[in-house]
Amino acid sequence: MSLTAASPSDFDLPPGGVALVGAGPGDPGLLTLHAVRALEQAEVVLHDRLVGAGVLALVPAGTLRVETGKSAGAHGMAQEQIHALMLEHSRAGRRVVRLKGGDPFVFGRGGEELEFLRAHGIPFRVVPGITAALACAAYAGIPLTHRDHAQSVRLLTAHCRDSIDTLDWEELARERQTLAIYMGVAGLERLRERLLAAGRDPATPFALVENGSRPEQRVITGTLADLPGTARAHAVASPALLVLGEVAALAAQLHWFGALPLGPPPAEPALARAA
Ligand code: SAH
Repeated sequence: MSLTAASPSDFDLPPGGVALVGAGPGDPGLLTLHAVRALEQAEVVLHDRLVGAGVLALVPAGTLRVETGKSAGAHGMAQEQIHALMLEHSRAGRRVVRLKGGDPFVFGRGGEELEFLRAHGIPFRVVPGITAALACAAYAGIPLTHRDHAQSVRLLTAHCRDSIDTLDWEELARERQTLAIYMGVAGLERLRERLLAAGRDPATPFALVENGSRPEQRVITGTLADLPGTARAHAVASPALLVLGEVAALAAQLHWFGALPLGPPPAEPALARAA
């Protein structure tokens, strides 16, 4: 059986149709069969910068590939330009894949793109992808829920003043729940302040997963009290996902992929502080 033979024809794109496809976090093994089939059928692939090289290698050589450059914090094409590109290729009767990192409906503006397609009468499909929270947790050995440690998990972003101010911090500071925080590298100081002010224990474990599921993956662990300093000491860069909660401590025992988890930097020598 070929890898894609099982895909039902409902998912085949008509000419001029657009498939909004989740590319997962980077490891091409995490693509769905529908995603692979959509890439095979596409005449045009419009992809975000976040999409991994291993996934892009699956786009057939003759297919037009356009990087739309959107990734956290980086300035790429304006959303309107992306809409215009989808429209142009669809009107020309081409099958278009709009390829997004992770899942298109999790902090991916997939909803806006579908609203645009619908408003223009363009037929579409949606293929879910493995979102960063699920992939980073799995590849770092962190069960997002665990009978002994966490009964719920929340996906959130807290990278700008708007998102920070609209969140319910009392709720987020509850124990025995896991926070999976997207686009967080720049806002760690404020995040720590808000959580501590709302009563979260400073000893709550965290794990920052940088380049989750990719060969260069790094996992940095510590406690909420030292979160910004630890991230700075290891120069954590985007894309990185923060997992905060009791379960994050399990990475120390359950890690299985890539480099060993890195801990907090060594404390300053007591003498230096006494001086
Ligand atoms: N739609 C995407 C999220 C887009 S927002 C998804 O479902 O995963 C971009 C943020 O996702 C990044 O800033 C980072 O926090 C997270 N992210 C995406 N890919 C990642 C990866 N491979 N490793 C760590 N974090 C990742």
